[in-house]
Amino acid sequence: MKKTIRTMPAHKNIALVAHDHYKPELLRWVVENKTKLQSHFLYATGTTGNMLSKETGLAIKSLISGPMGGDQQLGALISEGKIDMMIFFWDPLNAVPHDPDVKALLRIASVWNIPVAANRATANFLFNSVLLEQEVDIEIPDYQAYLNDRI
Ligand code: PGA
Repeated sequence: MKKTIRTMPAHKNIALVAHDHYKPELLRWVVENKTKLQSHFLYATGTTGNMLSKETGLAIKSLISGPMGGDQQLGALISEGKIDMMIFFWDPLNAVPHDPDVKALLRIASVWNIPVAANRATANFLFNSVLLEQEVDIEIPDYQAYLNDRI
């Protein structure tokens, strides 16, 4: 597929999501990284977002709760180029009812080449990168070329 460049802003749009057993873990990570998080625009699925804003006071745009469509809503924002990074502590040990949505969200994040952290170690690497506070060019599918090839 042909590629084009999207420039991520210095102030990034960051999505925060955690499955239920991992919400305390995400909260702990968010508290540790609160200062850095404050200079970005934060999004989250419904329960995660409401819990994080209540516990930390951070301004977070909460979408619908994951099992009720929030993962799909977030996937749509990623497809529109409106999310630059996702911290998604998904649960590798317990089944969730919306597993197809989880897969779809991870898939669409790969399609649009955004950085995704599925655990604390990766989230720490991302947040200690110099790129976090800079404009960053990423390669994304050239959607216009994709359409032109098909019509
Ligand atoms: P929640 O959704 O934040 O509403 O719990 C998370 C998810 O399962 O995607």
